[in-house]
Amino acid sequence: MAEAPADLDPVSMFSLLGDETRLAVLQALYDETRGRGTGRGAVAYSTLREAVGEPDSGRFNYHLTQLTGHFVEKLRGGYALRAPGREVVRVLRAGTLTQSPRVDPVGTGRVCPRCGGQVRLSYANEHVFVHCADCVGLLEFDYVPDGTLLAVSFPPAGANARDPSTLLAPATLGYERRLQTMTDGLCPDCGGVATPSVRRCECHRQTGSTTCDRCHTGFEALVELSCETCERRRVAPPAFAFTHRDPVREALSAANADGDAWRRYVTVVDWPTRVRRADGGTPEVVYAPPDDREVVVAADGSVRREAPSPPDELGAHLSE
Ligand SMILES: [Zn+2]
Ligand SMILES: [Zn+2]
Ligand SMILES: [Zn+2]
Repeated sequence: MAEAPADLDPVSMFSLLGDETRLAVLQALYDETRGRGTGRGAVAYSTLREAVGEPDSGRFNYHLTQLTGHFVEKLRGGYALRAPGREVVRVLRAGTLTQSPRVDPVGTGRVCPRCGGQVRLSYANEHVFVHCADCVGLLEFDYVPDGTLLAVSFPPAGANARDPSTLLAPATLGYERRLQTMTDGLCPDCGGVATPSVRRCECHRQTGSTTCDRCHTGFEALVELSCETCERRRVAPPAFAFTHRDPVREALSAANADGDAWRRYVTVVDWPTRVRRADGGTPEVVYAPPDDREVVVAADGSVRREAPSPPDELGAHLSE
């Protein structure tokens, strides 16, 4: 293996990439080595030059030399992408930095967990928005459509590759999986350490026709998952971040909600929920699924099932 080059500063990185021929070299190396396995197989100089289609050999050599080191490595049999070069091509193909598709609202065939109205889906700014035409929804922020029930990031290429009416299931699944990964301590974006915490809206107040005027959501408590390294933050109804853990999985299964991720989401949102203070004052979110035991999500991200609280404790909570 060739010796690793020194780290590249971000400005040099962008200026090195700002050329059509150089991007064509990266794309050609990616296409030519696909299927040969990472790190194996180099592309011969002549094959690469032909794939790029640059007639001027001096010009071609100059650009290839500029890329060689950080993005491309020279091996005995020719040239290959280094990991940063492969990542550039993948980011370009995912469209994350370059594409901005929009999808106007389309029907999904699903019903709103709040009001039973029709659920619609739209796409903008690299996000899938799932919203209800008939109620205020669960999230009321400037950047989401009226009636939003769920807003999740989804790559532009994936949105372009699918019929919009089929986007709901993969978008919700992607969200659920990223949440699960973060609750298990791993940031799926950068590999950093992720930690969960339960956040309670201390003055939560909502009616049947509004979201809360303090937190602008329909959730008294949310789990916040944050990465120490890239500072990525994801927020979700607490039980939905733990659908892979036995206590939640068991309750979902008893509710026949182990179908797709959207069904798991609306099921969890629909369970009667209350927030209480655990010993030490941290908030605990208690769900009452229809089977006989409650699901408790604690502030540290642990999940358990327990027998329903005795009526006096419940009464004390309700009169708070
Ligand atoms: Zn609704
Ligand atoms: Zn609130
Ligand atoms: Zn991260």
